[in-house]
Amino acid sequence: MRSFTYARADSAADAIGRAGASGTAFVAGGTNLLDLMKADVLRPDELVDISRLPLDRIEETAEGGLRLGALARNADTAYDERVQTRYPMLSKAILAGASAQLRNMATNGGNLLQRTRCYYFYDTATPCNKREPGSGCGAIGGVNRIHAILGASDQCIAVHPSDLCVALAALDAVVQVTGPEGERSIPFAEFHRLPGDRPEIDTTLQPGDLVTAIDLPARGFAEHSTYLKIRDRASYAFALVSVAAGLEMDGGTIREARLALGGVAHKPWRDPEAEAALVGKPATPDQFRAAARVLLRDAKGHEHNSFKIELAERAIVRALTEAAERKGAPRP
Ligand SMILES: Cc1cc2nc3c(=O)[nH]c(=O)nc-3n(C[C@H](O)[C@H](O)[C@H](O)COP(=O)(O)OP(=O)(O)OC[C@H]3O[C@@H](n4cnc5c(N)ncnc54)[C@H](O)[C@@H]3O)c2cc1C
Ligand code: SF4
Repeated sequence: MRSFTYARADSAADAIGRAGASGTAFVAGGTNLLDLMKADVLRPDELVDISRLPLDRIEETAEGGLRLGALARNADTAYDERVQTRYPMLSKAILAGASAQLRNMATNGGNLLQRTRCYYFYDTATPCNKREPGSGCGAIGGVNRIHAILGASDQCIAVHPSDLCVALAALDAVVQVTGPEGERSIPFAEFHRLPGDRPEIDTTLQPGDLVTAIDLPARGFAEHSTYLKIRDRASYAFALVSVAAGLEMDGGTIREARLALGGVAHKPWRDPEAEAALVGKPATPDQFRAAARVLLRDAKGHEHNSFKIELAERAIVRALTEAAERKGAPRP
């Protein structure tokens, strides 16, 4: 039994002030943090409950986009009519995750900050550099079927488990943060980090930072987009590989492409070269496969997960085909 204190924040400033101390953690929906506490992976001394802060709205932005409150629930976000019609890939990504009960509880901010599902991270009897820096990595040379094929390091080969984040990466969302130093905006590509030699650090947030909102730009690729999740079970399973794809089409020709992958790296994976390889090209499986090969050029499998390289290629081709077809584009 480990004791900890609990305090309910009555304002963002109150939450940030309390979170300055080390050993303090915010709790929102609690669906990840409390599991990790029960497994003795995380041991905060104080929980600061932010769940009642007024950060749960979904609002229009002056730029024509949407601001998703950090405390808006995943379910409320997925079923918001504006999200469904203007950002269908985001709605689809959220609904591909977890279960209805979890999505009712889980918040958008918490989803961004959920921890990896690497088995060794959860098992305190095994070494894990992310849980205990310097202890080693159980997955390298261990059971690594669900692990990374891109951007890994010799310290950690974990993947980020979120579905929501893959769509946010493809959409070029921006994370709004308030911390001890004031407010700032973090482009989504800079929010999560690769493991390098500090795998215990998942994001570029600083101690005491509170995520307040996520801004979606005006363009949602609503006409030609999809989210495809490949997993071991049809529901209630994390992605082996997932793809968020968005296209701007000019007849059968691609004018712009967005492609983000989940389940393959420590962060949602985008590759500007792969996206550029599609521009000006016809929407055909051959072009999609060529772009997939650009994206996967540095992919490296481990003992149990090399299958993910071909799976990712096939998933990219399928997702782009589905996205291209959306509004009557001729089947390639
Ligand atoms: C069985 C199961 C299956 C799941 N399957 C999937 C899946 O398929 N796909 C998927 O994407 N997710 C899945 N999830 C994960 C789920 O989506 C996350 O647990 C959830 O999104 C976390 O949100 P929360 O509000 O409960 O976060 P919490 O558990 O409250 O917090 C998580 C972390 O975020 C921090 N935090 C929370 N809010 C803020 C904030 N505003 N500012 C700064 N820090 C903050 C907390 O301190 C904590 O470190 C699954 C979870 C479970 C338990
Ligand atoms: S892959 Fe990362 S999270 Fe998993 S055991 Fe290795 S260091 Fe820990």
